Amino acid sequence: MNTLTHVSQEDTHILHRQLRSGLPLAVGGEGAWLIGADGKRYLDGSGGAAVSCLGHAHPDVLAAMHAQIDRLAYAHTSFFSTEVAEQLADQLVATAPEGMSHVYFVSGGSEAVEAALKMARQYFVEIGQPQRQHFIARRQSYHGNTLGALAVGGNAWRRAQFQPLLIDVTHVAPCYPYRDQAPTETPEQYGQRLVGELSQAIDQLGGENVIAFVAETVGGATAGVLTPVPGYFKAVRELCDRHGILLILDEVMCGMGRTGTLHACEAEGVVPDLLTIAKGLGGGYQPIGAVLAHHRLVDAFRQGSGLFQHGHTYLGHAVACAAALAVQQVIARDGLLDRVQVLGSYLEQRLRAELGQHPHVGDIRGRGLFWGVELVADRDTKQWFDPARKLHAKLKADAMARGILVYPMGGTVDGQAGDHVLLAPPFICSEAEIDFLVARLVESI
Ligand code: PMP
Repeated sequence: MNTLTHVSQEDTHILHRQLRSGLPLAVGGEGAWLIGADGKRYLDGSGGAAVSCLGHAHPDVLAAMHAQIDRLAYAHTSFFSTEVAEQLADQLVATAPEGMSHVYFVSGGSEAVEAALKMARQYFVEIGQPQRQHFIARRQSYHGNTLGALAVGGNAWRRAQFQPLLIDVTHVAPCYPYRDQAPTETPEQYGQRLVGELSQAIDQLGGENVIAFVAETVGGATAGVLTPVPGYFKAVRELCDRHGILLILDEVMCGMGRTGTLHACEAEGVVPDLLTIAKGLGGGYQPIGAVLAHHRLVDAFRQGSGLFQHGHTYLGHAVACAAALAVQQVIARDGLLDRVQVLGSYLEQRLRAELGQHPHVGDIRGRGLFWGVELVADRDTKQWFDPARKLHAKLKADAMARGILVYPMGGTVDGQAGDHVLLAPPFICSEAEIDFLVARLVESI
């Protein structure tokens, strides 16, 4: 049989082999290190893709998972909740931005974004504004690979072969001061200009037709790390409120402590209507994501159809919840948010000292333990390298050979060039490990 529902053993094998494409096998992990089949050790300088916040084989997380799996791995949510899912939900709501009263569990980042888009849409149906059909998102953003998440994502080349996508999205400029802020502008003026562009997009669509503005609070997987300029998100929030538009912040990558506050939006002084989290939530120990929802949406569901019309088989999986709960408890118990700030400053200082004057480093930017390095052919003109050289991929391979993992990005920014490296080391790293990471990265660059 040759259909996708009946893939033969052989076909599955071929697909798997293609995916693997000659990569080395990882056989173990220990703290901030991954271990290859040949015994080689790699410092996990990107936490995978900003996932492994507690590193590998953390004893408390393993113990919590073992205890849960011995008791109960899975019960379908149409029959049961579990104690561990309730505890995790309580913990996430207790630490959520003010007014965010509910949590909805999913299995990863794309599912979280997908659920948030649907919640936003259902909200306006419930309150009698079904004409709202449009989303606005940003260029140079990544929100996942399911169709809805892909539609809001900002890379035209990623969307191209899947057109027409299922929802209507207008894309506006992200915060990218290194490339887009005019020399005559202050950061605040630059932020105002961006919000002005958003305002124009809203006016063109008609504010009463827009569901939500979707943005990563701190941009991650497309163009190095993109940190917002001061006041930008506050102005975005005010603009959305003026038009009754929801604000969806995607913190799948930058959230759960990565930037030094539990939620990155805390540092911006804004509360979104919907907040997506994943990656660091389960710290890589289990696939889990979640959407935090403002009570305003939940109230509308209650007064309307009574239910969010969505669901997945594995939502609230007990072992995934046990892992995520343990990750959150360790972060709180060990004061790791403070540690992210301290170690993050150290990482920044090391990066600036070692690479600040490098002829091929155009920009170093980030927050907490979430840093991006942008490579350029020429610092004065900010000219990128020829994308055909695929320097980011070569850098990744060279860095691996030197025993560090750094996450490369390039050649994909809205069809433009650009080579970037993302650093997102585990929160449990030592200063010596940060030194090792930076020293090897400098050699690779
Ligand atoms: N949103 C953001 C901001 C992300 O960085 C990612 C993953 N890189 C996703 C969504 C999608 O998450 P996942 O790969 O778990 O589906």
